[in-house]
Amino acid sequence: MAPVLVLIERVDGAVRKPSLELLTLARRIGEPAALVLGAIDDTTVATLGEHGASTVYTVDAPELADYLIVPAAEAVTHVAKMLDPAAVLVTSGPDGKEIAGRVAVALDSGIITDAVDISPGDSSPVVTQSVFSGTWLADSTITSGTPVITVRTNSVAVETAPTTPAVESVDVAFSDLARSAKVTGTTAKESSGRPDLTDAAIVVAGGRGMGSEDAFTLVEGVADALGGAVAASRAATDMGWYGHEFQVGQTGKTVSPSLYVAAGISGAIQHRAGMQGSKTIVAVNKDPKAPIFEIADFGVVGDLHTILPALTEELGKR
Ligand code: FAD
Repeated sequence: MAPVLVLIERVDGAVRKPSLELLTLARRIGEPAALVLGAIDDTTVATLGEHGASTVYTVDAPELADYLIVPAAEAVTHVAKMLDPAAVLVTSGPDGKEIAGRVAVALDSGIITDAVDISPGDSSPVVTQSVFSGTWLADSTITSGTPVITVRTNSVAVETAPTTPAVESVDVAFSDLARSAKVTGTTAKESSGRPDLTDAAIVVAGGRGMGSEDAFTLVEGVADALGGAVAASRAATDMGWYGHEFQVGQTGKTVSPSLYVAAGISGAIQHRAGMQGSKTIVAVNKDPKAPIFEIADFGVVGDLHTILPALTEELGKR
């Protein structure tokens, strides 16, 4: 079987769940070959092996930490040229998309971004995208070069397929361009202690119906009682009630948690585009005709200022 090159992302040394999703998809179209940038350790190799990576390639060079995206793109391009894989898979975040774009240009290949599914095709994998705010699914194949595909997080359930990977270190000669934008400092963001929004199994979101920035403490209360992440509609983030990085929707993040609680959110199509893949949707809205109820599994018609504190209290008791 042809290798499928998967660029692995790590946070604080731990492999991110979206990368495990890529390994799951890679197994459908070939043999997953993981590429780890930076120092490798036994835990990383074990995690990748647990999820079916038959080979783990590593590129460890100071350029990867000291400069912006280009060294990573050059490393992926180098390994892709070495392997001639059936596809290159990268996550659909801002960094992933920039890396994928650069890799596609360097390989003279076609690229498809924001895939939600991948399946085997005749000569190239069939890539599914969710389009028009999630109302249609479009299948496409790349007809030129090595397919480069970025995949939205939470599009597929992670499956294990334990194997013992071979580990191979690769040397890359970086270009001058790779050293043209240097990282001069990094500041760790203050952690809320809540899970990352895109990876979270439970998300509690507030919209314009919250009425104020202060009222978001009610959303945080429910989120903390459930061990979930906090999100917001664009109306709420535009109002400055919550950070833009927490916006869910067409122009925000895409989430598909097990549970999505939408409070004071009408359910505009642009918001639904980012959350309608959630397994169970609970809506709290005072308007029984709010469109969010069309996709909600459970709905509470009422004032969120009463319902959210009552919910937090009840969760606390249980
Ligand atoms: P509203 O639509 O104003 O709904 C507020 C809801 O709160 C209402 O249903 C109301 O009944 C309810 N409510 C009010 N008070 C209470 C109360 N006390 N208790 C209970 N319920 C109450 N939006 C996004 O969210 N994400 C995006 O990524 C996004 N991208 C967009 C991209 C484009 C190109 C465009 C044009 C729009 C985009 N939007 C996006 C905006 C979107 O169209 C809506 O305007 C937005 O989602 C509305 O947010 P909302 O539901 O919080 O507010």
